[in-house]
Amino acid sequence: MRTSQLLIPTLREDPGEAEIASHRLMLRAGMIRKVAAGIYTYLPLGLRVIRKIERIIREEMNRAGAQEILMPILSPAELWRETGRWDFYGKELLRCKDRHERDFCFGPTHEEVITDLFRREVRSYRQLPLNFYQIQTKFRDEIRPRFGLMRGREFLMKDAYSFDKDEEGAGRSYQKMYDAYHQIFTRCGLNFRAVEADTGLIGGSMSHEFMVLADTGEETILFDENGAYAANVERAEVPPPPGASLEPQRSLQKVSTPNATTVEEVCTFLKTSPENLVKTLLYHTEKEEIVGVLIRGDHEANEIKVKRCLGVTGLTLADAETVARVSSAPVGFAGPVGLKNIQILADHAIQGMRNFVVGGNESDTHLLNVNWDRDFKVDIFTDLRQAQAGDPSPRGGTPLRSAKGIEVGHVFLLGTKYSQAMGATFLDPNGKETLAVMGCYGIGVGRTAAAAIEQNHDRKGMIWPLSIAPFHIHLLPVTASENVQETTQALYASLVNAGLEVLWDDRDERAGVKFNDADLIGAPFQVTIGDKGLATGAVDVKNRRTGEITKVSYKEVATYLSNQLSLNKTPQLENW
Ligand code: ATP
Ligand code: MG
Repeated sequence: MRTSQLLIPTLREDPGEAEIASHRLMLRAGMIRKVAAGIYTYLPLGLRVIRKIERIIREEMNRAGAQEILMPILSPAELWRETGRWDFYGKELLRCKDRHERDFCFGPTHEEVITDLFRREVRSYRQLPLNFYQIQTKFRDEIRPRFGLMRGREFLMKDAYSFDKDEEGAGRSYQKMYDAYHQIFTRCGLNFRAVEADTGLIGGSMSHEFMVLADTGEETILFDENGAYAANVERAEVPPPPGASLEPQRSLQKVSTPNATTVEEVCTFLKTSPENLVKTLLYHTEKEEIVGVLIRGDHEANEIKVKRCLGVTGLTLADAETVARVSSAPVGFAGPVGLKNIQILADHAIQGMRNFVVGGNESDTHLLNVNWDRDFKVDIFTDLRQAQAGDPSPRGGTPLRSAKGIEVGHVFLLGTKYSQAMGATFLDPNGKETLAVMGCYGIGVGRTAAAAIEQNHDRKGMIWPLSIAPFHIHLLPVTASENVQETTQALYASLVNAGLEVLWDDRDERAGVKFNDADLIGAPFQVTIGDKGLATGAVDVKNRRTGEITKVSYKEVATYLSNQLSLNKTPQLENW
C-alpha cells in the first residue's frame, strides 16, 4: 500500500490531551481521531490493527467451537427489565426512545439479548452445549472516558455466551474459553496474566480477568512467586490470622482525644500504632439499613467483600448526619461499644486482637483496652479488607507481590442467573424443563491494541508485535533518483508476492521525516533504499525492536525478510 493513497495524518508534536503512551502514539501515528469524549474514528492504520486482533480472536473462538452471530446494538428495555438491569445498570446504560416512545438502550453487554434468543430457539438437551460469539460495537456511558481506546464509551468488544445442561458442562465451556483467551493474547504478543476477579454488574459465581502487565494499568493485581495465586486486588482473599493474641485482657478505659479523628491523629495522640486501632465504618446499604464494619487501623475496607458478605449490591458510607444519629458523635469517633441495633461485621484480623483502641461514640473520645469478646458483639467475622503486597498468599502463605495491569479480557461462570430471570430452559432426557447454565466471555478489541502499545513502544514510537502490526514492512525510498524509484517498485512487488504486508512511503518528503514516521508507526521492519547503498547493490533493513541495521542485497530482500519474519515471530513471553 502506498502512503500517498492512505490517510495517515501523523503529528510531530505530542497531543496535549493524551496522558499515556498508547493514546499519544495512536493519535500521533494517525491511527485514531476523537469524534467526542470516548468516541473515535479508526483511520486506516488503526483499523488494520483492530482487524488483525479480530482475526486472531475469530480463529481461536471458532477453534474452540463457538459460533459467530451478530446481535443488534440497540436492545429493547423489556428484556432488561426482565433481569432487573434496566434499573440496576445506572447511568452507564445509555437509553433512548424510538418514535413510538418505546424505551431502548445501546447494549453495554448482551446477556439479555442472547438469553432471549436461546429461550426462543433452543428446545432440547441434544442441542447443548452451545456457545455464541460476536464482535460488535458496545456503548457504555463511562463516567470518565479516557486514555483513547483504553476506556472509550463506544468500543469494540468480542462477547461470547455459553449454554450448558449442567454445572459440570458449564465448567468445561468456561475452561475452553479460558484456554482460548490464553491463545489469543499469546498470539497478540502480549505479556499477560489471568487473575481471579470479582463478577461486578455481570454477576455469576466464578470469574477471571486477563491482565496485560503495564505500569499504566488501572487495575492492581496481587500474585505469589510460585504462580499458585493471582487475583485482582478487588478480589484477593486475605487468610485469617494465625491465632488469637495471648495478651491478658486489661480493663476498658475512656480517654479524651480532642480533635483526633484520623487514624494517624489518634495514634499520635495516644502514642500507639495503627495496628492497635480498630476503625468503625458505618455504611448504608440499598435496603436502607446501617451496618458497622470494623477494620484494623492500618488496613483498608474492601467494599466488594462487604457487599458480598451482606448480599447487597449498593453500599455507601453513611453521611455525617447519619453517623451523628447512630453513634451520637461526629465522624471520627464512632465505635462498636454500646452501638445499638445495628449489625456489626468485623474483618477477621480483629479476631486476633486484644486491648485495642476504638472510637468512644462521644465527641473527642476514644476507648482503650477494648476486647471484642467482652465489650461488644460481632455478628460476623470474615475477610473484609483489601489485600496488599506482603500479605500471605491464600494458597501457601508466601508473601504476595503487586503489579499494575490492563484488563483486556474477562470470563464469567454465570450459572443460572440470567436463565432463571428470563426462563431460558431446555428439555432434559426425561422431558423435564431445566434451566440452562451459562457463561459469558468478553475481550476489549481496541483496549487490546492499546495494551499492546503500552507494552511495546519506545521514545520514538510503537513497536508492533508481528501478529498485529498494521504492516510488516515499511519501505522507505530516500531519494527521488530513477534508480531508487525503480528498485523500490521492484522490491515492493517482490515483497508483496512473498505474502508480506508492505507500506511504501512514496511521499516526496525528506529522509528524516520518513524515518521518524516509520519509527512512530512501528512496523517490525524498515527497508531503506538510497543511492549510496544501491551503488553496492544493497539496501538497509532495520529491525524496529532492536534497532539493528543489516545491509542486504536488494535481490535478496524478499527472501531475507520472509525468513526474518517467520524466525522473529513475536517471542512467547514469560508470564512474569
Ligand atoms: P472495566 O472494569 O475496565 O470498566 P469491565 O469489567 O466493566 O471493564 P467487562 O464487562 O468485563 O468490562 O467487559 C469485557 C471487556 O471489555 C473488558 O475486559 C475490557 O477489555 C473491555 N472493556 C470494558 N469497558 C471498556 C471501555 N470502556 N473501553 C474499552 N474497552 C472496554
Ligand atoms: Mg471486567
